[in-house]
Amino acid sequence: MTKNLVGLCLGVLCLTFSACGSSPDPKHAAVAGGAAAAKPTDGADTTGTHTPVPGGKLPPPSVILGRKEVPILCYHQIRDWKPTDSRSAKDYIMPIADFRQQMKMLHDSGYHTVLPDQLYAYLTTGAPLPEKPVMLTFDDNDEDHYTVAYPELKKYNFKAVYFVMTVTLGRLPHYMSKDQVKELYNAGNVIGSHTWDHHSVKKYQGKDWEIQIDKPTKQLEAITGAPIRYFAYPFGLWNRQAFPELRKRGFVAAFGLADHRDDTDPLMCIRRIIVAGGWSMKTFNAAIHSSFK
Ligand SMILES: [Zn+2]
Repeated sequence: MTKNLVGLCLGVLCLTFSACGSSPDPKHAAVAGGAAAAKPTDGADTTGTHTPVPGGKLPPPSVILGRKEVPILCYHQIRDWKPTDSRSAKDYIMPIADFRQQMKMLHDSGYHTVLPDQLYAYLTTGAPLPEKPVMLTFDDNDEDHYTVAYPELKKYNFKAVYFVMTVTLGRLPHYMSKDQVKELYNAGNVIGSHTWDHHSVKKYQGKDWEIQIDKPTKQLEAITGAPIRYFAYPFGLWNRQAFPELRKRGFVAAFGLADHRDDTDPLMCIRRIIVAGGWSMKTFNAAIHSSFK
């Protein structure tokens, strides 16, 4: 690895540390949507892997907003803290033992992981979800998603969504290789786009859509051999202008963070919360319950 490449890597690392999300504090999670919940039923397809997105006309936004939100958790790095990690960086770094405890708690409490196609079917058609659904998402393509999170999830037959920032592909040892991403996909996980180098969609102009969205989508599709249909906004930032741009590029849903949802196209701003490093199990459990309405 050349010196320049190391510099770029660290630059991206800093970028993701400092600003990947808005506040991970669950108190900042907006209260959104109505309370009319579609009751999940037993016996649903819990594999949900690589199933086609249902076609047909979308229901009115009010129908989607009226369904009970599924808890969606967002993780960044999964590793033990170093003395050099700043206080704010630690929000984005989950110590390994804590992560393991969180996955065990989800499993022991009867949670079932769901994937975006299942969520999409639920939101658009009311298709049932398994009991106690939760979605696990990992942003930025960190290598510990493969080396630490993936083996842990396998213990419980959990599946997840990995949102890849393609500039980092193959930049070992900090980031996953193409082969690692492919292995995650082949194991039934979902690969989503997280842009080329983490620039906010709110600032795109000219060729930015091609650089940040079109080329990364092509690259990820070449790796997985399948369409890339889900997107996570860098920093969780979005605006309405981005929705049609993403839709015309084949994305059927996009994920933000603990922000409000847009009442014109709620599929394009599905809420997640960042699980901040340092949370106690009590905080973790409370956040899952209180942040999604
Ligand atoms: Zn990110």
